[in-house]
Parts: sequence; structure tokens; C-alpha cells
Amino acid sequence: MNYITCDMCKKVVSPPQYDRNYNTVKRLHVCRKCMLATKRDFQDKSEAETKAYDFLVKKEEFVSTVERKCSR
Ligand SMILES: [Zn+2]
Repeated sequence: MNYITCDMCKKVVSPPQYDRNYNTVKRLHVCRKCMLATKRDFQDKSEAETKAYDFLVKKEEFVSTVERKCSR
């Protein structure tokens, strides 16, 4: 396989280089641009909240954020 399609923006990433121009969240492929945008959104949202999260809760929320964006 010499290309993947980003599940979020539906753009083709070619050639795919893991951790360079795309990443995976569960079974979803997310291009670098979408990943950075999602991380930034998520960071802003987390910082706006006062409660402290533990890492696992945060990870779960990040995954569901990605899934939600991909299902649009
Ligand atoms: Zn994308």
C-alpha cells in the first residue's frame, strides 16, 4: 500500500510515513495536519477546564474527539 486516505479530511497521503505525515488513532488514519489541529483544539479545551485529568481519561477523550471528527 503506497498511499492512505486521511479519515478526517479524506485527503490522500502519499507516500505514507508513519509519525511523519500521518498517525493512527485506533483504526483511523489521520494526516499530520488534522492531527496537529485536533491536538491544538484538544489542548485549548483541556486548559479551559479546571479539573485535573489523569492521562488515561485524557487519552480516551482524545480518541473520541478524533472519532467524532472522522465521522463527519
Ligand atoms: Zn487529514
